[in-house]
Amino acid sequence: MTAKDSIRCIKGVGEKSEKLFLKLGITTVEELLAFYPREYDIFTKIQPIASVREGDTVILEGSFAAKLQMTSVRNLRIISGNFRDSSGQIRVSWFNMPYLLRSLRPGMHYIIRGRIVQKNGMLQMAQPKILSREEYANQLGKLQPVYPLTAGLTNHAVTKAVTQALAEYEFPSDFLPLEIRKKYNLMPHKKAVRTVHFPESREAYAMARSRLVFEEFFLFSLALHRMKKTKNSKPSEYILTAGEKADVLLEELPYQLTQGQENAWKDIQKDMESGFVMNRLIQGDVGSGKTVIAMLALLCAAGSGHQGALMVPTEVLAGQHYEEFCRYLEPLGIRTALLTGSMTAAAKREASRQIAEGEVDIIIGTHALIQEKVAYADLALIVTDEQHRFGVRQRETFADKGKSPHMLVMSATPIPRTLAIILYGDLDVSVIDVLPADRLPIKNCVVGTNYRPQAYRFMEKQVREGHQVYVICPMVEESENSEAENVIDYTNSLREVLPDSLKVEFLHGKMKPVQKNEIMEAFSKGMIDILVSTTVIEVGINVPNATVMMIENAERFGLAQLHQLRGRVGRGAAQSYCIFMAGNTSKETMERLRILEDSNDGFYVAKEDLRLRGPGDLFGKRQSGELLFRMADIYQDAKELQQANEAAGLLSQEEVRLLCKKYDSLRQKIEQYTGEVFL
Ligand code: ADP
Ligand code: MG
Repeated sequence: MTAKDSIRCIKGVGEKSEKLFLKLGITTVEELLAFYPREYDIFTKIQPIASVREGDTVILEGSFAAKLQMTSVRNLRIISGNFRDSSGQIRVSWFNMPYLLRSLRPGMHYIIRGRIVQKNGMLQMAQPKILSREEYANQLGKLQPVYPLTAGLTNHAVTKAVTQALAEYEFPSDFLPLEIRKKYNLMPHKKAVRTVHFPESREAYAMARSRLVFEEFFLFSLALHRMKKTKNSKPSEYILTAGEKADVLLEELPYQLTQGQENAWKDIQKDMESGFVMNRLIQGDVGSGKTVIAMLALLCAAGSGHQGALMVPTEVLAGQHYEEFCRYLEPLGIRTALLTGSMTAAAKREASRQIAEGEVDIIIGTHALIQEKVAYADLALIVTDEQHRFGVRQRETFADKGKSPHMLVMSATPIPRTLAIILYGDLDVSVIDVLPADRLPIKNCVVGTNYRPQAYRFMEKQVREGHQVYVICPMVEESENSEAENVIDYTNSLREVLPDSLKVEFLHGKMKPVQKNEIMEAFSKGMIDILVSTTVIEVGINVPNATVMMIENAERFGLAQLHQLRGRVGRGAAQSYCIFMAGNTSKETMERLRILEDSNDGFYVAKEDLRLRGPGDLFGKRQSGELLFRMADIYQDAKELQQANEAAGLLSQEEVRLLCKKYDSLRQKIEQYTGEVFL
């Protein structure tokens, strides 16, 4: 039996089970063996009846005091009796197994295993299995696999198929070099697979899991190192230095850089002076202050006599960045241009001309920046803000606008550094891990719609104190089959409820860009008190005077998105508030939203979100594909990830090539990751 053999060659797997296995994505022996148990059932020692607790699965030894009895409830026939040992007794029952009435005799000794449940205020054991003394002795202390199943396929059937496959499959020799196995204390592949299906003990399971996790990360890292070697360390003709203007800018800022910002800034300077092309990711939670880092980097490009460009995902954000850049950089003699799709044709033409002829130093814009007709005179640095909104392809198109320009990408996706290194394998990573010190933590509350009147009063009070408010609704206009609050109706009703002196406006994605910009500008100048908006304001917008964020139908959004939305407040020194209004108050909704109430930390939110939803969802389809590890958990297994990454990095290209030649499976996996033919 070999890896690619169909599972049909396993004894006991016929046409019917083949179809069921297919539903689980299993067609070959290899896939079956990589179908790991979801959890394990453990046979613990026989326990005295007096010591059992609700919810436990336990093994008891004793006898029935009297003959068992049968009762009928609707069409269920229930067999029950009192089972006792020297410590006490417990009621035991079975459904629809009338033959037990005859086979189980009072006074005889039995060993039974089952779950303790509470019924009518009494502990009971329902549906126990009767074990022979031999079965009990054999299974004691072992972990029985529990597989994730599909209807029609029993755990027993999967266990049998796996057992059979393990007996007949010839494992190829281990592709992890012996030195690596020794160094990190890893068991051989074959043993690890066996053990994961049928662990002898918890310790053995932990060792096996660790090996398989390592293996997954190792393969992934090998592929990444390979990509890195080809993409990175490209010589650069742009030596960009900070110069005096950077010092002046730092003086001008109304604050001091945080330690995290300081470190990122140092990393960038080192990269851009190195003579090699920078490929760096700046990762920092919402509000950690990434914009100023981009500004400093772009200033280096401009100050060194070249051009730099900043690409952002929305027009509104482009406009806002443009204004801020002008405010700080114009006095330094730096010329900044804006280029977005919504500008008039004439304005676009003029901007393009200036860009092509080198009349501007820094260009800020949307996707318009990478359109074919836009040519840059001397593009030395490209920056993408809110990286998760762009694909790798767009980043590359952007880079093609210059001669291997330095590249900086900024992201608020809260992933641990170790994971960022993997996810953005071709990039170096700087993490801004602290928020500016003057910030008060946002106060959060999760409420039902009956809280709305109080919320409105609170908003009014905050406005009277000179602050501003965002209200987020999921929809633009009322649609027939959705009761979601919609922006336009909502704005109207808000205007009715609130005193006329409060200025309420709305913003949504279907408005013309020019209108959007007008509204946004008015809001940031404080001319609008309450802005009712769809999630168009989610990305990057910065109005520090806004202190209240109220999100209607909060249950309709993902947690990561809610965290981003919340990030629009708490950007200044004043206390900020976020009100999550839930359209339903079901247990699941509340449990999910409470995560946001518990913490303002994006890492925590992402982690909990992952726990509730399972991995794979977090990054959206585009990025997750390759990151779906079978066994490894990017949060839990950080240590293995680091070790595997280190081990993979120590192998030379030649060694990897030789390994791939020897082990087909290794080569295939690397090719799968890199998307290129390896040898
Ligand atoms: P993000 O990381 O979400 O892009 P921004 O760059 O928009 O964050 O910064 C959020 C706010 O914090 C802005 O108002 C900015 O001026 C301010 N800010 C940035 N750095 C600091 C700092 N070191 N101390 C105080 N405020 C800062
Ligand atoms: Mg930002």
